[in-house]
Amino acid sequence: MVALLFTLTFGILMLLVITLDDDEGGGGGGAELAAGSLKIGKGGVPAAYAGLIQKAAASCKAGLPAAILAAQLNQESGFRANPGKSSAGALGIAQFMPDTWYGRNGSKGAGVDGNNDGRKDPLDPEDAIAAQGKMMCELLRSAKKHPEYNGSPIELALAGYNAGWHRVVQYRGVPPRTFARGETYNYVKNIMASSANYSGPDLGAVTSKGWTRPVDGPLGTPYHQRGGAWSSGMHTGIDFTVSTGTTVKAAGPGTIHTAGRGGAYGNQIVIKHADGTYSQYGHLSKISVSAGQHVEGGQKIGLSGATGNVSGPHLHFEIRTGPEYGSDIDPVSFLRQQGVKL
Ligand SMILES: [Zn+2]
Repeated sequence: MVALLFTLTFGILMLLVITLDDDEGGGGGGAELAAGSLKIGKGGVPAAYAGLIQKAAASCKAGLPAAILAAQLNQESGFRANPGKSSAGALGIAQFMPDTWYGRNGSKGAGVDGNNDGRKDPLDPEDAIAAQGKMMCELLRSAKKHPEYNGSPIELALAGYNAGWHRVVQYRGVPPRTFARGETYNYVKNIMASSANYSGPDLGAVTSKGWTRPVDGPLGTPYHQRGGAWSSGMHTGIDFTVSTGTTVKAAGPGTIHTAGRGGAYGNQIVIKHADGTYSQYGHLSKISVSAGQHVEGGQKIGLSGATGNVSGPHLHFEIRTGPEYGSDIDPVSFLRQQGVKL
């Protein structure tokens, strides 16, 4: 559970109040600390939560690995959105104590409305995972100010999540085995040991040919899947399953051909590449480049979203032999030829 001992002292709530200054902001610039990719499916992260975990990790600029958040969710709840109240009263997939989530005695709670539905619900993974990431990010930043403490910054942050940051301060590191019958000590140890099970290949890597995956997220609807949702009767690109607000990167070096409204594709970007191919990025929530601009592979060009004709947020991605719809080729085999792992 999150900080059993919170209920006793609320030390961390003060910490939260002090450090709630935001991490998100900005949004410009290309270089961001990679949150790392996740292993999805059997033995890894349930697909339904992978995008949320990636987003939570990526929005932390202090270098919070997605695999750590995943291992932590497994430790907290076994990835169950509503495992029932723990004996200590903790709630939801990230096992927040009600006082931590909602705040108490006027202190601001750690709860987050991750999906902007107007509610901060600890039983809603879209809110709980966002709040978990935010809290871990704040703890990580506090931890980095104390290189003299016993434990790596990630270990200190995990200990703070479990026991409250004041316990980390008290012990000048991860609390020892003698503290709380080893609960915090083992919590940190288990998560550190199991996080490797949840990390996937480095999907953010740019290949020697300058190409990369356009977004850190799992593949969804494949190329040429047939269905009535598409005007051509089949899917002209590939979808990456990512939640709204995920960083979208230029798949390869080139020049922005168009950036703006694209009909059923919502906000879209088309990039022209040196070999005469074009890459297209659809349904974006934000465009951060303009026509004529040169981009490198891996450079941020916008944020994923759900604009245009969609049933939910994702990135629609095409490789084309011309700038317009209808000239698509298989994007998976194209990217693989550039050395990208898919
Ligand atoms: Zn699509």
